[in-house]
Amino acid sequence: MVWDNVFGQREAIDILRRALESNSLSHAYLFFGPPGVGKRTVAKGLASVLNCEKGGCGSCPSCLKIAHETHPDVLHIEPEGNFITIGQVRELQHEAELKPFEGLRKVCVVDNVDSLTLEAASAFLKILEEPPSDLTFALLATNLEGVLPTIVSRCQLVRFKAIPPGKMAEILVANYGFSPERARLLTKMSGGILGDALDLANSPWRLERRGVILGIVQGIPRADELELAEAAEELVLEVERPLGKLKVRQERELEEAQELAFDSSHAAYLKRRFGEKHKRERNRWKRRGFEEILDIFASWYRDLMILVETFDEDLLVNIDQVERLKEFRGVSTFKLNKALEIVHKTKEILRFNVNALLAFEVMLFKLREVLV
Ligand SMILES: [Zn+2]
Repeated sequence: MVWDNVFGQREAIDILRRALESNSLSHAYLFFGPPGVGKRTVAKGLASVLNCEKGGCGSCPSCLKIAHETHPDVLHIEPEGNFITIGQVRELQHEAELKPFEGLRKVCVVDNVDSLTLEAASAFLKILEEPPSDLTFALLATNLEGVLPTIVSRCQLVRFKAIPPGKMAEILVANYGFSPERARLLTKMSGGILGDALDLANSPWRLERRGVILGIVQGIPRADELELAEAAEELVLEVERPLGKLKVRQERELEEAQELAFDSSHAAYLKRRFGEKHKRERNRWKRRGFEEILDIFASWYRDLMILVETFDEDLLVNIDQVERLKEFRGVSTFKLNKALEIVHKTKEILRFNVNALLAFEVMLFKLREVLV
């Protein structure tokens, strides 16, 4: 079954399983609990069970599309930037009125439901109040406090448990078959978020990219102007590289959807809908790319600070780089603090639509200035 390998959320899954068995599925569920514990996976699992002829096998075309988030009847909504906007909810409203396209039942997964703007929330509430009979909602939130009470009261609540601190590396070894060293590194790099650790393990390019970024960080103090400018270009490339993969997937997704269109106006509608979705997806990937790269920069300076101040290697994030880190131990905490400030500032700047190349260039030059 598709959700059998979600770790530690047996009680949450059983609530859904019992409802399915007794044919008493609620029209809206609110999954709440810490990030990375499997809320989204379980939501997709529910969509699989509802749409798979074999009850959620995990391997048929329907289940695979749901897992890859390309199933036309499983809608995903998540914040654009910081908020879920009224435009997104209106789009959902329109989608909700349509019959399932190729599946049996539509499912709408709303990630970070606590980030609806007030305007969007009141429009969303209207859909929740009079939900179409063939649509099930799975709303996801880290905690209930941020979710409007009127939304909470219309959902069945399902609590997701935190994974005990210190347990994660153990879980990665026992349940996912990683070696203890790899499990430890994944735990560190993901900040203890299981979902992210698994994503890292399944995305070799993220690990490769980390290698490239760490190489750039380590080279800054000795780099000349030209090398710094080139490094900035490389950072931009590292953000854009995964977008190529995404584009291929998006083109295939659109093609598949077009093949199933009823007529030319439906095909045009699908093209528009997928076009908007794909644009949002690209922007999201880009934003995440910037953040991830700058997080790697920050983790390096933070690790150096730990080495300089405490010598406690257990606290390091980049535990596979201890020897390299030691070579840089001569830098003062004052300088490292300045470096962290520069990285942080760049992260803030890149949230706006600025020229990324220029922002990276400025950052690298400033970093060299404070570190040398
Ligand atoms: Zn299936």
